[in-house]
Amino acid sequence: MPDDILRTAAELSISWLDSIDEPPVFPTNPDNALRRGLDLRLTEEGVEPITVLKELASGASPGLVKSPGGRYFGFVTGGALPVSVAADWLTSAWDQNGFSYVSSPAAAVIEEVAARWLLDLLHLPSNASTAFVTGCQMAHVTALAAARYRVLEQKGWDVSVDGLYGAPEVTVVCGAMRHTTVDRALRLLGMGTNSLLPVAADAGGRMIPEALASTLDGLVGKPVIVIAQAGEVNTGVFDPLTRIAEIARKAGAWLHTDAAFGMWAQAVPSLSHLSAGIELADSWAFDAHKWLNVPYDSGVAVVADTEAHIASMSMTGAYLVASSDQRDASDWTPDASRRARGIPIYAALRTLGRQGVSDMIKRSCEQAKVIASGLGNISLEVLNDVELNQVLFCAKDDIATEKLLTGIQSSGETWMSGTTWAGRRAIRLSVSGWATTSDDVQRTLATIGTAAQHANS
Ligand SMILES: *Cc1c(COP(=O)(O)O)cnc(C)c1O
Repeated sequence: MPDDILRTAAELSISWLDSIDEPPVFPTNPDNALRRGLDLRLTEEGVEPITVLKELASGASPGLVKSPGGRYFGFVTGGALPVSVAADWLTSAWDQNGFSYVSSPAAAVIEEVAARWLLDLLHLPSNASTAFVTGCQMAHVTALAAARYRVLEQKGWDVSVDGLYGAPEVTVVCGAMRHTTVDRALRLLGMGTNSLLPVAADAGGRMIPEALASTLDGLVGKPVIVIAQAGEVNTGVFDPLTRIAEIARKAGAWLHTDAAFGMWAQAVPSLSHLSAGIELADSWAFDAHKWLNVPYDSGVAVVADTEAHIASMSMTGAYLVASSDQRDASDWTPDASRRARGIPIYAALRTLGRQGVSDMIKRSCEQAKVIASGLGNISLEVLNDVELNQVLFCAKDDIATEKLLTGIQSSGETWMSGTTWAGRRAIRLSVSGWATTSDDVQRTLATIGTAAQHANS
Protein backbone atom coordinates (compact mmCIF):
# COMPACT_ATOMS: atom_id res chain seq x y z
CA MET A 1 0.00 0.00 0.00
CA PRO A 2 1.63 3.25 -1.07
CA ASP A 3 0.06 5.18 1.79
CA ASP A 4 1.85 2.89 4.27
CA ILE A 5 5.12 3.84 2.65
CA LEU A 6 4.44 7.54 2.95
CA ARG A 7 3.11 7.26 6.48
CA THR A 8 6.20 5.29 7.51
CA ALA A 9 8.41 8.04 6.11
CA ALA A 10 6.41 10.64 8.02
CA GLU A 11 6.68 8.66 11.26
CA LEU A 12 10.41 8.10 10.84
CA SER A 13 10.92 11.80 10.09
CA ILE A 14 8.86 12.87 13.07
CA SER A 15 10.60 10.49 15.42
CA TRP A 16 14.03 11.80 14.36
CA LEU A 17 12.88 15.40 14.74
CA ASP A 18 11.49 14.51 18.19
CA SER A 19 15.01 13.47 19.20
CA ILE A 20 16.66 16.59 17.83
CA ASP A 21 17.45 18.01 21.29
CA GLU A 22 19.20 14.87 22.47
CA PRO A 23 22.99 14.87 22.31
CA PRO A 24 25.19 14.38 20.45
CA VAL A 25 24.64 17.37 18.18
CA PHE A 26 27.48 16.08 16.01
CA PRO A 27 28.05 12.32 15.76
CA THR A 28 31.24 10.80 17.17
CA ASN A 29 33.18 8.59 14.73
CA PRO A 30 30.15 7.62 12.67
CA ASP A 31 32.01 6.04 9.78
CA ASN A 32 32.07 2.37 10.76
CA ALA A 33 28.48 2.36 11.96
CA LEU A 34 27.32 4.08 8.78
CA ARG A 35 29.03 1.54 6.57
CA ARG A 36 27.72 -1.34 8.62
CA GLY A 37 24.16 -0.08 8.30
CA LEU A 38 24.19 1.29 4.77
CA ASP A 39 26.92 -0.27 2.67
CA LEU A 40 24.74 -3.22 1.65
CA ARG A 41 24.76 -5.47 -1.38
CA LEU A 42 22.59 -4.33 -4.29
CA THR A 43 20.21 -7.28 -4.59
CA GLU A 44 18.73 -8.78 -7.72
CA GLU A 45 15.17 -8.71 -6.49
CA GLY A 46 15.04 -5.60 -4.42
CA VAL A 47 13.72 -5.05 -0.91
CA GLU A 48 10.30 -4.05 0.44
CA PRO A 49 9.94 -0.24 0.47
CA ILE A 50 9.07 -0.07 4.18
CA THR A 51 12.08 -2.20 5.04
CA VAL A 52 14.21 0.12 2.92
CA LEU A 53 12.92 3.18 4.74
CA LYS A 54 13.49 1.63 8.17
CA GLU A 55 16.97 0.49 7.17
CA LEU A 56 17.75 3.96 5.87
CA ALA A 57 16.56 5.63 9.05
CA SER A 58 18.47 3.31 11.37
CA GLY A 59 21.50 3.16 9.07
CA ALA A 60 21.75 6.94 8.75
CA SER A 61 21.06 7.75 12.38
CA PRO A 62 24.65 7.29 13.67
CA GLY A 63 25.79 9.87 11.11
CA LEU A 64 23.03 12.44 11.14
CA VAL A 65 24.05 15.91 12.25
CA LYS A 66 21.44 17.60 14.42
CA SER A 67 21.83 20.81 12.47
CA PRO A 68 18.07 21.52 12.41
CA GLY A 69 18.13 21.59 16.23
CA GLY A 70 18.70 24.50 18.56
CA ARG A 71 22.36 24.04 19.50
CA TYR A 72 24.05 23.65 16.13
CA PHE A 73 25.98 26.81 15.26
CA GLY A 74 28.32 25.54 12.53
CA PHE A 75 29.07 27.48 9.32
CA VAL A 76 25.88 29.44 8.54
CA THR A 77 23.22 26.79 8.84
CA GLY A 78 19.52 27.22 9.30
CA GLY A 79 17.09 24.56 10.39
CA ALA A 80 13.83 23.89 8.64
CA LEU A 81 10.53 25.28 9.88
CA PRO A 82 8.02 22.43 10.26
CA VAL A 83 5.71 23.95 7.67
CA SER A 84 8.56 24.19 5.17
CA VAL A 85 9.45 20.53 5.71
CA ALA A 86 5.81 19.62 5.18
CA ALA A 87 5.58 21.76 2.05
CA ASP A 88 8.76 20.09 0.84
CA TRP A 89 7.07 16.69 1.29
CA LEU A 90 4.17 18.00 -0.81
CA THR A 91 6.63 19.19 -3.43
CA SER A 92 8.03 15.65 -3.65
CA ALA A 93 4.63 13.98 -3.64
CA TRP A 94 3.32 16.28 -6.36
CA ASP A 95 6.54 15.65 -8.30
CA GLN A 96 5.90 18.57 -10.60
CA ASN A 97 8.43 19.54 -13.19
CA GLY A 98 9.03 23.17 -12.29
CA PHE A 99 10.44 23.77 -15.77
CA SER A 100 7.62 25.89 -17.19
CA TYR A 101 4.02 26.94 -16.86
CA VAL A 102 3.01 24.16 -19.24
CA SER A 103 4.90 21.51 -17.27
CA SER A 104 3.17 22.65 -14.06
CA PRO A 105 0.83 25.62 -13.89
CA ALA A 106 0.61 25.18 -10.11
CA ALA A 107 4.38 25.28 -9.59
CA ALA A 108 4.71 28.29 -11.91
CA VAL A 109 2.08 30.32 -10.07
CA ILE A 110 3.29 29.38 -6.56
CA GLU A 111 6.84 30.38 -7.48
CA GLU A 112 5.69 33.59 -9.13
CA VAL A 113 3.84 34.59 -5.96
CA ALA A 114 6.69 33.50 -3.66
CA ALA A 115 9.10 35.60 -5.73
CA ARG A 116 6.85 38.65 -5.51
CA TRP A 117 6.55 38.24 -1.73
CA LEU A 118 10.34 38.05 -1.43
CA LEU A 119 10.91 41.24 -3.44
CA ASP A 120 8.36 43.03 -1.30
CA LEU A 121 9.63 41.69 2.03
CA LEU A 122 13.27 42.42 1.18
CA HIS A 123 12.64 45.86 -0.34
CA LEU A 124 14.10 44.94 -3.71
CA PRO A 125 12.81 46.49 -6.96
CA SER A 126 9.32 45.11 -7.58
CA ASN A 127 9.98 44.65 -11.30
CA ALA A 128 13.21 42.66 -10.84
CA SER A 129 13.37 39.11 -12.16
CA THR A 130 14.03 36.12 -9.94
CA ALA A 131 15.31 32.56 -10.08
CA PHE A 132 14.91 29.81 -7.51
CA VAL A 133 18.10 27.78 -7.60
CA THR A 134 19.99 25.31 -5.39
CA GLY A 135 21.87 27.84 -3.29
CA CYS A 136 23.76 31.09 -3.21
CA GLN A 137 26.52 29.47 -5.29
CA MET A 138 24.19 28.93 -8.26
CA ALA A 139 22.48 32.25 -7.57
CA HIS A 140 25.91 33.84 -8.17
CA VAL A 141 26.27 31.93 -11.41
CA THR A 142 22.81 33.01 -12.54
CA ALA A 143 23.18 36.68 -11.63
CA LEU A 144 26.78 36.95 -12.85
CA ALA A 145 25.78 35.43 -16.18
CA ALA A 146 23.35 38.34 -16.55
CA ALA A 147 26.09 40.75 -15.46
CA ARG A 148 28.57 39.26 -17.94
CA TYR A 149 25.99 39.52 -20.70
CA ARG A 150 25.25 43.20 -20.01
CA VAL A 151 28.77 44.53 -19.52
CA LEU A 152 29.86 42.86 -22.76
CA GLU A 153 26.74 43.90 -24.66
CA GLN A 154 27.65 47.48 -23.76
CA LYS A 155 30.95 46.93 -25.61
CA GLY A 156 29.11 45.58 -28.64
CA TRP A 157 29.76 41.92 -27.81
CA ASP A 158 26.99 39.29 -27.58
CA VAL A 159 28.37 36.68 -25.20
CA SER A 160 25.28 34.48 -25.60
CA VAL A 161 26.14 33.95 -29.26
CA ASP A 162 29.87 34.56 -29.50
CA GLY A 163 31.03 33.27 -26.13
CA LEU A 164 34.13 34.61 -24.46
CA TYR A 165 36.76 33.74 -27.07
CA GLY A 166 37.96 37.06 -28.42
CA ALA A 167 35.64 39.07 -26.15
CA PRO A 168 36.78 42.19 -24.33
CA GLU A 169 38.22 41.19 -20.97
CA VAL A 170 35.80 41.57 -18.06
CA THR A 171 37.29 42.61 -14.71
CA VAL A 172 35.51 41.58 -11.53
CA VAL A 173 36.26 43.82 -8.58
CA CYS A 174 35.36 42.49 -5.15
CA GLY A 175 36.31 42.74 -1.50
CA ALA A 176 39.31 40.83 -0.17
CA MET A 177 36.96 38.90 2.16
CA ARG A 178 34.66 37.61 -0.56
CA HIS A 179 33.14 34.14 -0.22
CA THR A 180 34.85 31.37 -2.20
CA THR A 181 31.67 30.62 -4.14
CA VAL A 182 32.32 33.87 -6.02
CA ASP A 183 35.57 32.45 -7.35
CA ARG A 184 33.88 29.25 -8.45
CA ALA A 185 31.06 31.16 -10.14
CA LEU A 186 33.69 33.03 -12.18
CA ARG A 187 35.40 29.75 -13.08
CA LEU A 188 32.11 28.24 -14.20
CA LEU A 189 31.32 31.33 -16.25
CA GLY A 190 34.60 31.08 -18.14
CA MET A 191 36.00 34.29 -16.70
CA GLY A 192 38.50 32.53 -14.46
CA THR A 193 39.77 33.65 -11.11
CA ASN A 194 42.39 35.84 -12.80
CA SER A 195 39.56 38.17 -13.77
CA LEU A 196 39.25 38.98 -10.05
CA LEU A 197 40.71 42.16 -8.68
CA PRO A 198 40.37 42.13 -4.88
CA VAL A 199 40.00 45.42 -3.06
CA ALA A 200 41.30 45.92 0.48
CA ALA A 201 38.94 45.31 3.39
CA ASP A 202 38.99 46.91 6.83
CA ALA A 203 39.73 45.02 10.04
CA GLY A 204 36.13 43.80 10.26
CA GLY A 205 36.17 42.49 6.68
CA ARG A 206 34.28 45.35 4.96
CA MET A 207 35.36 46.50 1.53
CA ILE A 208 36.99 49.94 1.72
CA PRO A 209 35.08 52.24 -0.68
CA GLU A 210 38.06 54.54 -1.37
CA ALA A 211 40.07 51.49 -2.43
CA LEU A 212 37.22 50.48 -4.74
CA ALA A 213 37.08 53.97 -6.26
CA SER A 214 40.80 54.05 -7.01
CA THR A 215 40.69 50.53 -8.49
CA LEU A 216 37.81 51.55 -10.76
CA ASP A 217 39.72 54.70 -11.80
CA GLY A 218 42.24 52.36 -13.39
CA LEU A 219 39.57 50.54 -15.38
CA VAL A 220 37.82 53.39 -17.19
CA GLY A 221 36.18 52.25 -20.43
CA LYS A 222 36.55 48.54 -19.59
CA PRO A 223 33.70 46.13 -18.84
CA VAL A 224 33.57 45.82 -15.04
CA ILE A 225 31.49 43.88 -12.52
CA VAL A 226 31.73 44.88 -8.86
CA ILE A 227 30.75 42.34 -6.20
CA ALA A 228 29.82 43.62 -2.77
CA GLN A 229 29.04 41.50 0.28
CA ALA A 230 26.19 41.74 2.75
CA GLY A 231 27.18 39.51 5.67
CA GLU A 232 30.76 38.23 5.89
CA VAL A 233 30.85 34.55 6.95
CA ASN A 234 33.11 35.07 9.94
CA THR A 235 32.01 38.42 11.28
CA GLY A 236 28.60 39.05 9.70
CA VAL A 237 29.60 42.59 8.68
CA PHE A 238 28.25 44.38 5.62
CA ASP A 239 30.24 46.24 3.01
CA PRO A 240 29.23 49.95 2.96
CA LEU A 241 26.66 49.32 0.25
CA THR A 242 25.37 52.83 -0.44
CA ARG A 243 28.88 54.18 -1.02
CA ILE A 244 29.84 51.17 -3.12
CA ALA A 245 26.69 51.54 -5.22
CA GLU A 246 27.46 55.21 -5.90
CA ILE A 247 31.04 54.43 -6.89
CA ALA A 248 30.04 51.48 -9.10
CA ARG A 249 27.32 53.48 -10.81
CA LYS A 250 29.66 56.39 -11.52
CA ALA A 251 32.10 53.95 -13.13
CA GLY A 252 29.36 52.33 -15.21
CA ALA A 253 29.99 48.95 -13.57
CA TRP A 254 27.43 46.25 -12.82
CA LEU A 255 27.01 45.79 -9.07
CA HIS A 256 26.27 42.28 -7.80
CA THR A 257 25.71 41.54 -4.10
CA ASP A 258 26.57 38.37 -2.20
CA ALA A 259 23.87 38.55 0.44
CA ALA A 260 23.70 34.83 1.28
CA PHE A 261 22.39 35.49 4.79
CA GLY A 262 22.74 39.27 5.18
CA MET A 263 19.83 39.81 2.80
CA TRP A 264 17.43 39.00 5.63
CA ALA A 265 18.44 42.13 7.54
CA GLN A 266 16.21 43.89 5.01
CA ALA A 267 13.17 42.22 6.58
CA VAL A 268 13.89 43.65 10.04
CA PRO A 269 13.26 47.37 10.63
CA SER A 270 15.83 47.53 13.44
CA LEU A 271 18.56 45.88 11.30
CA SER A 272 17.93 47.33 7.87
CA HIS A 273 20.40 50.16 8.48
CA LEU A 274 23.09 47.48 8.09
CA SER A 275 21.96 46.61 4.56
CA ALA A 276 21.04 50.18 3.58
CA GLY A 277 21.73 50.77 -0.09
CA ILE A 278 21.48 47.11 -1.04
CA GLU A 279 18.48 47.92 -3.22
CA LEU A 280 20.76 50.05 -5.43
CA ALA A 281 22.59 46.99 -6.76
CA ASP A 282 21.94 45.38 -10.15
CA SER A 283 21.72 41.82 -8.85
CA TRP A 284 21.54 39.89 -5.61
CA ALA A 285 22.22 36.32 -4.54
CA PHE A 286 20.98 34.88 -1.26
CA ASP A 287 19.89 31.71 0.46
CA ALA A 288 16.57 30.54 1.77
CA HIS A 289 18.05 27.36 3.28
CA LYS A 290 20.15 29.39 5.68
CA TRP A 291 18.18 32.04 7.52
CA LEU A 292 14.68 31.61 6.14
CA ASN A 293 14.91 28.09 7.57
CA VAL A 294 13.57 26.08 4.66
CA PRO A 295 15.07 22.67 3.79
CA TYR A 296 18.01 22.24 1.42
CA ASP A 297 18.52 23.13 -1.25
CA SER A 298 17.22 26.62 -1.79
CA GLY A 299 18.83 29.83 -3.02
CA VAL A 300 17.51 32.85 -4.87
CA ALA A 301 18.94 35.08 -7.60
CA VAL A 302 17.36 38.47 -8.25
CA VAL A 303 18.28 40.64 -11.22
CA ALA A 304 17.09 44.22 -11.74
CA ASP A 305 17.95 44.13 -15.45
CA THR A 306 15.39 41.52 -16.51
CA GLU A 307 16.44 41.79 -20.15
CA ALA A 308 20.04 40.82 -19.33
CA HIS A 309 18.74 38.03 -17.11
CA ILE A 310 16.58 36.44 -19.78
CA ALA A 311 19.14 37.03 -22.52
CA SER A 312 21.71 35.05 -20.57
CA MET A 313 19.45 32.25 -19.25
CA SER A 314 16.43 31.66 -21.46
CA MET A 315 16.06 28.40 -23.21
CA THR A 316 14.46 28.03 -26.57
CA GLY A 317 13.65 24.90 -28.46
CA ALA A 318 11.21 24.11 -31.25
CA TYR A 319 9.49 21.41 -29.21
CA LEU A 320 8.91 23.71 -26.27
CA VAL A 321 5.55 25.35 -25.99
CA ALA A 322 6.13 28.97 -25.03
CA SER A 323 3.52 30.06 -22.55
CA SER A 324 3.80 33.75 -23.47
CA ASP A 325 2.48 35.77 -20.56
CA GLN A 326 3.08 33.02 -18.00
CA ARG A 327 6.30 32.63 -16.09
CA ASP A 328 8.53 29.81 -17.28
CA ALA A 329 11.23 29.11 -14.68
CA SER A 330 13.50 27.73 -17.40
CA ASP A 331 13.93 31.25 -18.78
CA TRP A 332 15.44 32.44 -15.51
CA THR A 333 17.36 29.49 -14.04
CA PRO A 334 20.30 27.48 -15.35
CA ASP A 335 18.16 24.34 -15.02
CA ALA A 336 15.76 22.74 -17.46
CA SER A 337 13.74 20.14 -15.54
CA ARG A 338 13.78 21.20 -11.94
CA ARG A 339 12.28 20.88 -8.49
CA ALA A 340 9.87 23.71 -7.66
CA ARG A 341 12.01 25.02 -4.81
CA GLY A 342 9.79 28.03 -4.36
CA ILE A 343 7.04 25.93 -2.76
CA PRO A 344 8.62 25.58 0.71
CA ILE A 345 9.58 29.27 0.51
CA TYR A 346 5.95 30.13 -0.19
CA ALA A 347 4.85 28.06 2.83
CA ALA A 348 7.43 29.61 5.15
CA LEU A 349 6.58 33.18 4.15
CA ARG A 350 2.83 32.63 4.32
CA THR A 351 3.13 31.05 7.77
CA LEU A 352 5.49 33.61 9.27
CA GLY A 353 4.16 36.75 7.66
CA ARG A 354 6.29 39.89 7.63
CA GLN A 355 6.32 40.06 11.42
CA GLY A 356 7.26 36.40 11.81
CA VAL A 357 10.22 36.68 9.45
CA SER A 358 11.38 39.83 11.19
CA ASP A 359 11.03 38.25 14.65
CA MET A 360 12.93 35.12 13.63
CA ILE A 361 15.88 37.06 12.19
CA LYS A 362 15.95 39.52 15.07
CA ARG A 363 15.86 36.72 17.63
CA SER A 364 18.97 35.08 16.11
CA CYS A 365 20.81 38.40 16.32
CA GLU A 366 19.77 38.97 19.93
CA GLN A 367 20.90 35.45 20.83
CA ALA A 368 24.25 36.09 19.14
CA LYS A 369 24.67 39.21 21.32
CA VAL A 370 23.82 37.26 24.48
CA ILE A 371 26.39 34.63 23.54
CA ALA A 372 29.04 37.26 22.79
CA SER A 373 28.61 38.94 26.17
CA GLY A 374 28.56 35.55 27.91
CA LEU A 375 31.89 34.68 26.28
CA GLY A 376 33.38 37.89 27.64
CA ASN A 377 32.35 36.74 31.13
CA ILE A 378 34.35 33.52 30.77
CA SER A 379 37.47 35.40 29.61
CA LEU A 380 37.25 34.54 25.95
CA GLU A 381 37.95 37.22 23.39
CA VAL A 382 35.25 38.17 20.92
CA LEU A 383 36.98 39.31 17.73
CA ASN A 384 34.08 40.92 15.85
CA ASP A 385 31.46 43.60 16.34
CA VAL A 386 28.39 41.42 16.74
CA GLU A 387 26.08 43.39 14.47
CA LEU A 388 24.26 40.38 13.09
CA ASN A 389 24.21 36.65 13.89
CA GLN A 390 27.92 35.75 13.73
CA VAL A 391 30.22 35.56 16.74
CA LEU A 392 33.95 35.10 16.20
CA PHE A 393 35.97 34.30 19.30
CA CYS A 394 39.18 32.78 20.57
CA ALA A 395 41.08 31.80 23.72
CA LYS A 396 44.40 33.27 24.92
CA ASP A 397 46.50 31.73 22.11
CA ASP A 398 46.16 29.40 19.10
CA ILE A 399 46.90 26.27 21.11
CA ALA A 400 44.28 27.10 23.71
CA THR A 401 41.78 27.96 20.95
CA GLU A 402 42.33 24.58 19.26
CA LYS A 403 41.87 22.82 22.61
CA LEU A 404 38.75 24.85 23.22
CA LEU A 405 37.31 23.97 19.81
CA THR A 406 38.03 20.27 20.31
CA GLY A 407 36.39 20.42 23.73
CA ILE A 408 33.29 22.10 22.34
CA GLN A 409 32.97 19.81 19.32
CA SER A 410 33.43 16.63 21.32
CA SER A 411 30.99 17.70 24.04
CA GLY A 412 28.00 16.47 22.03
CA GLU A 413 26.11 19.42 23.51
CA THR A 414 26.72 21.90 20.72
CA TRP A 415 28.76 22.26 17.56
CA MET A 416 30.59 25.07 15.78
CA SER A 417 33.58 25.30 13.49
CA GLY A 418 37.03 26.83 13.45
CA THR A 419 38.60 29.42 11.20
CA THR A 420 41.64 31.64 10.91
CA TRP A 421 41.04 35.35 11.31
CA ALA A 422 43.75 38.00 10.99
CA GLY A 423 46.38 35.30 11.44
CA ARG A 424 44.83 33.85 14.60
CA ARG A 425 42.96 30.61 15.13
CA ALA A 426 39.37 31.40 16.02
CA ILE A 427 35.98 29.80 16.47
CA ARG A 428 32.94 30.94 14.56
CA LEU A 429 29.47 30.62 15.86
CA SER A 430 26.46 31.38 13.70
CA VAL A 431 22.95 31.67 15.09
CA SER A 432 20.70 30.96 12.11
CA GLY A 433 18.18 28.39 13.30
CA TRP A 434 14.55 29.06 14.10
CA ALA A 435 14.69 26.39 16.83
CA THR A 436 17.32 27.98 19.09
CA THR A 437 15.83 28.94 22.46
CA SER A 438 17.30 30.98 25.30
CA ASP A 439 17.76 27.68 27.13
CA ASP A 440 19.88 26.45 24.20
CA VAL A 441 21.92 29.64 24.42
CA GLN A 442 22.58 29.10 28.16
CA ARG A 443 23.44 25.41 27.68
CA THR A 444 25.85 26.37 24.91
CA LEU A 445 27.53 29.02 27.05
CA ALA A 446 27.87 26.54 29.90
CA THR A 447 29.48 23.99 27.55
CA ILE A 448 31.89 26.58 26.17
CA GLY A 449 32.70 27.64 29.73
CA THR A 450 33.62 24.11 30.77
CA ALA A 451 35.69 23.57 27.64
CA ALA A 452 37.46 26.90 28.24
CA GLN A 453 38.51 25.85 31.74
CA HIS A 454 40.15 22.73 30.33
CA ALA A 455 41.71 24.62 27.41
CA ASN A 456 43.30 27.20 29.68
CA SER A 457 44.63 24.71 32.20
C1 LIG B 1 26.83 30.26 2.41
C2 LIG B 1 27.37 31.39 1.61
C3 LIG B 1 27.51 31.31 0.23
C4 LIG B 1 27.24 30.04 -0.52
O1 LIG B 1 25.93 29.63 -0.38
P1 LIG B 1 25.46 28.15 -0.73
O2 LIG B 1 24.05 28.15 -0.32
O3 LIG B 1 26.32 27.23 0.07
O4 LIG B 1 25.63 27.96 -2.20
C5 LIG B 1 27.95 32.43 -0.44
N1 LIG B 1 28.24 33.56 0.21
C6 LIG B 1 28.14 33.68 1.55
C7 LIG B 1 28.47 34.98 2.20
C8 LIG B 1 27.69 32.59 2.30
O5 LIG B 1 27.57 32.70 3.62
